[in-house]
Amino acid sequence: PLARTTVRSRLAHPWRSLATVSSSPGVSVKNCTQITPPYTKLVSNLDKVRRILDNRPLTLSEKILYSHLAEPEETKPIRGQTYLKLSPDRVAMQDASAQMAILQFMLAGMPTTAVPSSIHCDHLIVGHVGAEKDLVNSIENNKEIFNFLESAAAKYGMSFWKPGSGIIHQIVLENYAAPGLLMLGTDSHTPNAGGLGAIAIGVGGADAVDAMANIPWELKAPEGGTGHIIEYFGPGIETLSCTGMGTICNMGAEVGATTSLFPFVPSMSSYLHATGRGPVAEAAHRNAQFLRADEGAVYDKIIEINLSALEPHINGPFTPDLATPLSKFADVVKQNGWKDEVKAGLIGSCTNSSYEDMDRVTSLAKQAVEKGIKSKAGFFITPGSEQIRATIERDGQTEVLEKVGGVVLANACGPCIGQWKRDDLNDKEENAILTSFNRNFKSRNDGNATTMNFLTSPELVTAMSLSGRLTFNPITDPLVDINGNEFMLQPPYGDNLPQNGFTPGNLSYTPPDVSDPNPSIGINVDPKSTRLQVLEPFGPGPEGEFSELQVLVKVKGKCTTDHISAAGPWLKYKGHLENISYNTLNGAVNADNDKVNIVTNVFTGKEGAIHEVARDYHALGKPWIAVTDHNYGEGSAREHAALQVRYLGCPLILARSFARIHQTNLKKQGVLPLTFADPADWEKIHGGDVIETTVGVADLVAGRPGKNDTPEGGEISLVMRRPSGEKYEIKAVHTMSKDQIEWFKKGSALNAASA
Ligand code: SF4
Repeated sequence: PLARTTVRSRLAHPWRSLATVSSSPGVSVKNCTQITPPYTKLVSNLDKVRRILDNRPLTLSEKILYSHLAEPEETKPIRGQTYLKLSPDRVAMQDASAQMAILQFMLAGMPTTAVPSSIHCDHLIVGHVGAEKDLVNSIENNKEIFNFLESAAAKYGMSFWKPGSGIIHQIVLENYAAPGLLMLGTDSHTPNAGGLGAIAIGVGGADAVDAMANIPWELKAPEGGTGHIIEYFGPGIETLSCTGMGTICNMGAEVGATTSLFPFVPSMSSYLHATGRGPVAEAAHRNAQFLRADEGAVYDKIIEINLSALEPHINGPFTPDLATPLSKFADVVKQNGWKDEVKAGLIGSCTNSSYEDMDRVTSLAKQAVEKGIKSKAGFFITPGSEQIRATIERDGQTEVLEKVGGVVLANACGPCIGQWKRDDLNDKEENAILTSFNRNFKSRNDGNATTMNFLTSPELVTAMSLSGRLTFNPITDPLVDINGNEFMLQPPYGDNLPQNGFTPGNLSYTPPDVSDPNPSIGINVDPKSTRLQVLEPFGPGPEGEFSELQVLVKVKGKCTTDHISAAGPWLKYKGHLENISYNTLNGAVNADNDKVNIVTNVFTGKEGAIHEVARDYHALGKPWIAVTDHNYGEGSAREHAALQVRYLGCPLILARSFARIHQTNLKKQGVLPLTFADPADWEKIHGGDVIETTVGVADLVAGRPGKNDTPEGGEISLVMRRPSGEKYEIKAVHTMSKDQIEWFKKGSALNAASA
């Protein structure tokens, strides 16, 4: 670790300030045996590592990670170098990624999962007219998948959170996250649980399978830059609510951090009590020393954030890092000639769907209702869980939100993941929406590339939706009431926790605190299914050098996992590798012709979609590679992005740089990720060129030291040939650890594990 972020002072901006923590009667106390981290063992493990590290002061991230080492006596962790073999405490999977994880876990042949695991049905539910009807329709349309997941959960003893129960990260925060916990989630916003002091890391299904199959899970000891952990500290954190800290950690995924976390503070204790986990809070109190950084811990970088001076921002469109302060946003709208209209405002998602968010938003909606006006823009609310939905219904927030024109959607991802059926738009009409979600890549919400999607706080989404104008600034601009009189919105306020405690709502959504496996249950996958397909193991890797690898495509610019394996309508094929492979790289821009998803087949001279030409090469027995730009595979933990290229015959990806999760996912599936030693060499290669031979792969697989090896990896040379016959050489580097080389040799991590 780590970048450490000092939160310097009490945040004072009225549009961002937080209300007081209310003492809450809370829900009934849960059985906490499975959800309390094993503090005694963790502290003892850490003592062993401390001795190896000469008792130097440790950051909180180091303490949690090192206390979870599978072999604490044998590892001397060096930041940025050592691959840590870790034993996570828990796994959580969402319905889209769980399918592939479970299909892989089935190959391992185990009777139960090695650590408590949960499945959450949230991504496959479409938001359209409102929770009740949408849920019925989505369950009907995804019956086969939900039945598959439910039967697998029952067989292997996983907790099954059925459709309508809520969004994975909110459910985890309410039920499973705990200070000092190490958990993996098959979703990139898993770091949300850092708001409760956990190290929670978004991974692909194959990593989840490692933890479930009791195979130590590997992570390079994090440091600064990509692969860092952000640890927050300072006086400001004492003022934040637990769910507010969850929001901050959730968004940390957007800066490429491995995860983010906060030390154990009183608001975590209040939240644990309010959610029926008093015993976890008490155990954490007894281990408070373990749950904060040591005095004098050294960080790679410290960033100071003065919350009192931090202005609300609006981010986008099309990327979360295009940030504009609220006071400048109207100018940006005018400069770009955007229509001054907000077509829809959406609040909720796993990022901002806490009781506090809903209460603060309601305080604004109430002012509008009192003035007799409704939201000018479409207004949609996605509660994060059944518990939130039921509690805001009981406490009256839902009534106010509906009075102002809001439509409450199902407790699920819905519009945040492209599962949004809009009736308010002509096809491809340019329009602007504001959301309190965390991502806004093109087409992310409604599948429409001309929808400009901006991210901001739930409060700003609400205020701007009320006005219906993109240039509206609630701090300086008035709204107009039903009688034509102007009025100013007063700053939002709200409770962190419900004064009368949470109500669990529909209890049929809540699985038992401990789920036992039942080996007699069968898992049926219909061979004719278009949505589920039993996996065949991949074949082994090369015994020597690669030869005659065809460059299928040279990708230019941003190529996120959305570009490699799109979501939206493709989500329904998450459990069917062959069918989903038809979307492979369909958002990638070909650097040679500037076209999206069009490449030339060198054997026929004809143009085709990337997946088509890949399939043709594969059928001809011609392995192919993709050459890619910076941060290839950024975005989500979607392992399909790695599985699909492998399935279509790609054994190697050559990138200017990789996003961490995707790079690991490629390795897990037996694909060799290489980066250019000199990123400028990207210019030299073109689609149609051929890697005549690699130099260094034979050493790698034979376990021989390679040329210019470093502790992080080594050099691989590529002898290239153009269609003209001209030859040239590219120097590349790999970052394969010893275990990862085994995966590569055996064809995949799972092959290596079950060998
Ligand atoms: Fe669901 Fe959106 Fe959260 Fe992902 S970011 S878990 S899609 S709500």
